[in-house]
Amino acid sequence: MVIIDAQQDAAAGAPLEPIYRLAGVTRNYQQKGRLVKALAGVDLDIAAGDFVTIQGPTGGGKSTLLQILGALDRPSTGSVVLGGTDIAGASNAELGMVRAHEIGFVFQGFNLIPTLSAHENVDMALEPLGLAEDERAARVREALEHVGLADRADHRPGELSGGQQQRVAIARAIVKRPRVLLADEPTGNLDESMRDEILAVLERLHAEGLTLIVVTHDSAVARRARRRLRLEKGTVRDITR
Ligand code: ADP
Ligand code: MG
Repeated sequence: MVIIDAQQDAAAGAPLEPIYRLAGVTRNYQQKGRLVKALAGVDLDIAAGDFVTIQGPTGGGKSTLLQILGALDRPSTGSVVLGGTDIAGASNAELGMVRAHEIGFVFQGFNLIPTLSAHENVDMALEPLGLAEDERAARVREALEHVGLADRADHRPGELSGGQQQRVAIARAIVKRPRVLLADEPTGNLDESMRDEILAVLERLHAEGLTLIVVTHDSAVARRARRRLRLEKGTVRDITR
């Protein structure tokens, strides 16, 4: 099954350039001597600047796909091209570079370091980039400002609400100025009002041109996406209406 996003950029009237091109992607796991086909042949183009959600039942392969898109894992077979780089054939060092420069990650559980301030948590993402001290500090301030937390820079995660912690995590993801933001259930641990905080931030980033790929069970999040995918039994279906 080939899913090519044929939608045109309404403003420009030109087709959007694909940022990801996946062809024949499989990922098999060995589980207690049994073969699990987490991804069973995924063909998928994702346009630069798109806002895509991935829904589907538990065990359908969503996290597996996100890890492959995030250069955290390689497919068993098939090709995954991000920009110009084939992730499937890249070395560990090359994958590390792709993650450091091109990809921002946001997780359900925030994954902040509890002993560090918001500023220090965000700053960590810049470690591999080799920037000068003042450029680094300016970028961290800008990222925290962007998610509305300039006044919480010195707070530790335990002193912030869930929604604020997730916004720090988003700041950490965008501070490196990545090409794509990947999120795995970013609102899964949040109540409705905090969910809306996160949605507002995501929508703003999309409006600014960042490519967003969001795994979610939350139909309120999926409703805002420009393109909706469903992943079930390792197979992707486009369910955009
Ligand atoms: P989802 O995120 O949609 O719930 P996953 O991608 O986590 O789905 O899992 C897809 C399938 O792959 C499941 O059957 C899961 O048990 C299996 N799986 C995922 N990760 C591993 C792993 N590291 N080792 C073995 N099996 C795995
Ligand atoms: Mg999952």
